[in-house]
Amino acid sequence: MHAHKLTEGIYYSDPVAETDRPLLGLVAGSQGTVAVDAGTSPSHARDFLTALEELTGTPFGVGTGGGANRDEVPIQRQFITHWHWDHIFGMQTIGATSLAHELTAQKVAELRGLSWDDAGLDHLVETGFLPRFAADCLKTEMPSPSQRQLIPIDRSFHSAGQIDLGDITCIFEHLGGSHTDDSSILYVPERGVLFLGDCVYGRRYKGAYGYRLETLVPMRDRLKRFKATHYLISHEALHSAEKLFGFLDPLIKTGELVGETTDYQAAAERYRRQHGAAPNQEAAQMIRFFTEPNTALAR
Ligand SMILES: [Zn+2]
Repeated sequence: MHAHKLTEGIYYSDPVAETDRPLLGLVAGSQGTVAVDAGTSPSHARDFLTALEELTGTPFGVGTGGGANRDEVPIQRQFITHWHWDHIFGMQTIGATSLAHELTAQKVAELRGLSWDDAGLDHLVETGFLPRFAADCLKTEMPSPSQRQLIPIDRSFHSAGQIDLGDITCIFEHLGGSHTDDSSILYVPERGVLFLGDCVYGRRYKGAYGYRLETLVPMRDRLKRFKATHYLISHEALHSAEKLFGFLDPLIKTGELVGETTDYQAAAERYRRQHGAAPNQEAAQMIRFFTEPNTALAR
């Protein structure tokens, strides 16, 4: 696993598609250090800390475990962007005080009440709670059920807050948005860096993946108020503002064009009349991001 220095005091690791590992972040100021998301598993979190040490020469702390290296630089907080499994099963390994939105804390508490052994995972797939791919990734990342430990969120917030790290600041805010209701972002204004988690992705509506304008538009409008130059999206790594809004703006235009229709052909015909050409592959996908949830919700 590789870690990168984005800019002074900001590090991140590459996402890994095979087991759906999101990128993990580290914000290191003169007075303290904050991790952004904890990863899919203890081995994911450990790989991140090892990659950081290889990159910076600094062993960042892995909590209060017995064999703590006395030269370790402790991580004071782990900020969790949302409740999805691939962002939280590494919390035990990062070890720092966890911080998340109150909805995230509530969800993690619910997840702690579920059974995560192999039979439990199969049950979560059967009930539709967990995609099969996610269950497979969790089994690959944590072959032994005893590794699948979820610790509670230590501190939760209602709307926003900030952590002063000396020369830099972490501003965290609840955003909600298209992916989950609890999604929160972390902004480092001095460096123009915005950690987005998964917030700009879609979600499943009765099994159909896609977007709804009522969560998408307010999210896009709020994201536009940040004066960031680097946007980190969990499963893609780095984007510019141009690229991020070059995706969100046409997506919203497409959603406005689709409206409540469930009929892909009708929406594609509207697109053709408006643009003077049939939708290309990318535009066709965007249309389906709206017609498919519309269809599922109309059933
Ligand atoms: Zn997610």
